[in-house]
Amino acid sequence: MDSHDWLDTECAALEQAGLRRHLRTVMSAPTGTINLDGRDVVLLGSNNYLGLSTHPQVIATAVEATRTFGTGASGSRLISGNSELYTTLETNLAKTKHTEAALVFSSGYAANTSVIPVLTGEDDLILSDALNHASIIDGCRLSRATKKVYRHCDVEHLKILLSESTAFRRRLIVTDGVFSMDGDIAPLRDIYEVATHYNAMLLVDDAHGFGVLGKDGSGTVAHFGLEGTDIIRMGTLSKAVGALGGYIAGSRALIELIINKARGFIFTTGLPPATLAAANAALNVIRSSPELRQRLSSHARCLKTALTNLGYTLLPSKTQILPVVLGHPQQATSVADALLAEGVFAPAIRPPAVPPDTSRLRLTVMATHTEAEIQQAIAGFATVFPKTR
Ligand SMILES: *Cc1c(COP(=O)(O)O)cnc(C)c1O
Repeated sequence: MDSHDWLDTECAALEQAGLRRHLRTVMSAPTGTINLDGRDVVLLGSNNYLGLSTHPQVIATAVEATRTFGTGASGSRLISGNSELYTTLETNLAKTKHTEAALVFSSGYAANTSVIPVLTGEDDLILSDALNHASIIDGCRLSRATKKVYRHCDVEHLKILLSESTAFRRRLIVTDGVFSMDGDIAPLRDIYEVATHYNAMLLVDDAHGFGVLGKDGSGTVAHFGLEGTDIIRMGTLSKAVGALGGYIAGSRALIELIINKARGFIFTTGLPPATLAAANAALNVIRSSPELRQRLSSHARCLKTALTNLGYTLLPSKTQILPVVLGHPQQATSVADALLAEGVFAPAIRPPAVPPDTSRLRLTVMATHTEAEIQQAIAGFATVFPKTR
């Protein structure tokens, strides 16, 4: 009896349930068409929404930063890893997010799992949307606060939970701005009103709204005209920004406390210089390129209309994230496999990333897709549809 036999048993159980995951190998940059495991396919599964990870100016800036500062940060930010590239990026971020200050983490995952435990502890209450991202859920766990989950985007339910829970020291409402797997937008105006009424803090994870929504791509908070508020803005530099990293934007006092207490900030090495420079250059492109956002939303509308006309059922998303819900995990993977055979990479998303029985294809478009690539994708969906019945 081998003490590691359970590993194979667990993988076999996942396989049986249609939940086993496999890595694919991407052999090119994340543009509209990629080389996947040696084959060219149209990419409908990238978060590089504006194509900035391959923007020539962004790349040139990153290369230059590597020449000047080297490949790694060489230390945690509180020791020797805090290069001036951080200062430039954080100043730019605060300006973009209309806040006093901003702080960059190594990833969005690290930002959520370290900041939520700074904002709340054992004596506090977190109110979390049912479809919040896994990094928020893990942040709640690490905080040791009491957590109550409100029904997805249900402000009335949120109100009831708040009115029932007045004995806590502090209360924090946390929500995705744009929901990562559904593509819908949180009703932030109403949520903010409720937060203010009940004197609760509000944290918005804008991983998928940043760069895309609002004036100048500033994100979901700006989309609702709430720039001047004390909403705590969290987001990533890994999606529309095309680099890597997470951020928190808010008051200077908030950022000071996070620098002093957030474990995922303190106990990890800083980001590589190339990443910081790329993110900063990308922020400048985002501000000055409304045409990228227009192309993105026009591609999303085009794909959504075409798939609906073909008979596919899409969730009512108003963003670049277009979920085609298929139900059972095996149904989602078999449609994804069929599409891949037609040269379309539309990733299947299964539990625990989405609730049971809502396995889906999560389609995303990019501003840099060509019309021909969108049409090629639609043709793939047209061929595959009959086989899914
Ligand atoms: C991707 C994502 C994160 C994590 O960000 P990374 O930078 O990839 O670690 C956090 N929240 C949401 C909503 C996300 O979609």
